[in-house]
Amino acid sequence: MPLPLKEDELQGLVSMAKDWALTHGITMRTADRPTSSEVTNYAPFLLLPSPFPERLFHQACAVQQDFNLLYHRVAHDHDFLQSTLQSVIKVDDYTKRLWEIYETVRKEGIKQPVSLAINRNDFMTDSQGRTLSTPEDVNTLGIKEIEFNTIASGCAALATQVGIFHRFIFERCGLKDKINKLPANTGVSDIAGGMVQAWELYGNKEAVMLFLTETVSRNIFDQRWLEWGIYEINSKVKVLRRSFDQVYRKSQLTEDNKLILEGHEVGVVYFRCGYSPNDYITEEDWTTRLRIERSTAIKCPNIYYHLAGAKKIQQELGRPGVVERFIQDSEAVKRIRATFAGMYSLERDAEGDAAVAMAMENPFKYVLKPQREGGGNNYFGEDVRKVLRRVLDSDERMAYILMERIHPVPFQNYVLRAESPVQPNTMLSELGVFGVLIGTSDHIITNKQCGHLLRTKTSDINEGGVATGTSALDSPYLV
Ligand code: ADP
Ligand code: MG
Repeated sequence: MPLPLKEDELQGLVSMAKDWALTHGITMRTADRPTSSEVTNYAPFLLLPSPFPERLFHQACAVQQDFNLLYHRVAHDHDFLQSTLQSVIKVDDYTKRLWEIYETVRKEGIKQPVSLAINRNDFMTDSQGRTLSTPEDVNTLGIKEIEFNTIASGCAALATQVGIFHRFIFERCGLKDKINKLPANTGVSDIAGGMVQAWELYGNKEAVMLFLTETVSRNIFDQRWLEWGIYEINSKVKVLRRSFDQVYRKSQLTEDNKLILEGHEVGVVYFRCGYSPNDYITEEDWTTRLRIERSTAIKCPNIYYHLAGAKKIQQELGRPGVVERFIQDSEAVKRIRATFAGMYSLERDAEGDAAVAMAMENPFKYVLKPQREGGGNNYFGEDVRKVLRRVLDSDERMAYILMERIHPVPFQNYVLRAESPVQPNTMLSELGVFGVLIGTSDHIITNKQCGHLLRTKTSDINEGGVATGTSALDSPYLV
């Protein structure tokens, strides 16, 4: 479709798009009433699907099982977790607390050998700063991993709905012959399938599934879609949505470590919070996390998977020979490594000093990342220099890693965001690929790729998160 669209055509599509979103659950609670479902809005999304190189889309999907396996093995490698995270634990209180829970349950003996991982691997196309003037230029692009998420990897459901909407709008606009360039997204049903499988493995038909949620959850409908997906696969499952505080007050462990919540045994715990220090407001919240980790419930993720998702781990995997420690298949190693961007440790040694000097010299070429999830925590551009200057001579710098900044290829599209004007914008995308892995330390039961999420933001924004309001839901148009 040639952009920009004519004004009357645009207005017609926009009003159709908003109503389609509201009638098909591309929804979020409002900023004014974030705990109420009485008034809702459409979640921010793109009017049209955004161009994404077909080759790179398939490359990102094809490497998911390799990454699932890599992180599964990392999560189960105590020595590696310890040696990699020890410097971070010294200076980052949040990681330290997670580590203490891990150490406690490890010493007591892990009561549930099965892990359920719902991962999302995030990528950007890497233009290396070049502009693309001919279609052939697309062939010179690569794809780079931004981060690997092992906890609360969200938006699969809303992304699935946006993909369906984009098919609809193509049909309405007479572009039916191009629909085969809009890849189907099986995110919700695949992920729900993994959760049901884990519940079945738990082996008690009376057990409930606990969604651990924030008390204020604007993105509740994305989670509800997953819940509906679960019921569709197995109507016997009962999902309870509860906060840390509710679980603290209404649950206990039995002598044989079963987690009993409001009288029901819990078979699976799915964390949609607990990934940020802000989720642990009171000591009771930490007590609750420990109680869950001590239990026989299958956790998504368990504490060692949570730790494996630290950015420090991602940086360490970038070192020569480290992926090879976990993956023997040399083709799989190549597939994984082909997506690695430059990552640098900021430890207090010669290597760390060199990375600091490099970033101070050229801060716009790097992103400075603490061990945090959920968006809004990284430093870009001049802020990289500011923070490094502050932590230069202290151990505090070990809490961060430095990453090469990736520049995806820009394009034009329209964002629909509640109460905001719709206008053509220069945009950038980040592709997330979902994966499910179920297994014990030495036995893989399921390992699959499960749909995708495209998130798009205007090119002037550094970070992008849908829940944080900086990026919007999208789907790829393969070019
Ligand atoms: P979080 O765990 O908080 O989501 P991410 O590492 O995913 O942290 O970074 C948040 C956002 O910052 C990403 O979604 C992306 O928009 C931007 N970002 C992160 N790393 C890079 C990078 N190396 N180059 C360009 N942008 C990045
Ligand atoms: Mg992220």
